[in-house]
Amino acid sequence: LESIEEEEEDDIVIVGGGFGGLNAALSLSSMMDEERRQDGTEDLKKRKIILMDEKERFVFLPLLYELCIGDASVDEVAPTFASLLSSTPNIEFVQARISGVDNVDNCIYYTSPSSSSTEEKKKKYSAMIVATGSELQLDAIPGATQYALPFYTVEQCFELKRRFQRLEQLQLQRPLQVVIVGGGYSGVELALNTIQRFENTNTKVKVTLIHRGKHILQNATPYNSQQGIDKLQEYGVQTLTQTSVLQILPPTTTNDDSASHH
Ligand SMILES: Cc1cc2nc3c(=O)[nH]c(=O)nc-3n(C[C@H](O)[C@H](O)[C@H](O)COP(=O)(O)OP(=O)(O)OC[C@H]3O[C@@H](n4cnc5c(N)ncnc54)[C@H](O)[C@@H]3O)c2cc1C
Repeated sequence: LESIEEEEEDDIVIVGGGFGGLNAALSLSSMMDEERRQDGTEDLKKRKIILMDEKERFVFLPLLYELCIGDASVDEVAPTFASLLSSTPNIEFVQARISGVDNVDNCIYYTSPSSSSTEEKKKKYSAMIVATGSELQLDAIPGATQYALPFYTVEQCFELKRRFQRLEQLQLQRPLQVVIVGGGYSGVELALNTIQRFENTNTKVKVTLIHRGKHILQNATPYNSQQGIDKLQEYGVQTLTQTSVLQILPPTTTNDDSASHH
């Protein structure tokens, strides 16, 4: 790969435009504006914040369920970084996949997903924030890569929407069995939204929520946790706590051994 060097060493680079990266960029931007207003420091005038993300759109993850069941539009849930940052001229968005960091020479290496070229570029920075989030490790559970669908991106949300549509078209006689693994906020909201999705349709749905911990919504306040438990009961979601998924089998299999109680 050929490397193209870009100068501008004074830039502050933020890698990852999720909640952490975007919030850091906006906070830095207003701090710099404030300092500029106070004393017009030349150094700060030249400085730019470069926000880099491999995706073109910021995803407001708490609205992903609404996108899935059709209660929100893509532009509401996932606005482009360009539109979000249109009123903050000291933040420049660059769509880039970071491939490496050299913290001795203060430079990062990246490619541009929006172009067909695989050319690797290099950018110098004066300070850098890494906010690339976490990665799901589906291969930790046999069968998960083939048969489970993560719910983290707009693409996965649309895939779930398509699968629900296909299943609804099948007009199954028996209830649709949906198993959701993980009883944190995402799992609980997804369970409730799945029930809502099939309300007033001819498809019956049975949702099971599997959670390894003692009780769901472990990190929530006791009040919020109880609210979640009550809602799941009200919606008829079967909740299995202290239960770990050991293996995931193909969807047509009705084998009760795929989850084991401890
Ligand atoms: C469906 C859902 C609903 C949620 N609801 C809530 C809620 O209501 N309240 C709450 O507090 N939390 C909620 N969360 C959790 C919350 O979204 C996460 O805690 C938060 O997104 C973490 O922020 P982050 O910036 O660390 O990482 P992320 O939001 O994951 O952002 C990381 C970014 O880095 C980019 N990136 C990664 N690698 C590279 C690379 N090599 N090059 C360039 N870019 C890269 C990614 O494209 C991504 O945009 C929810 C999560 C999900 C999945």
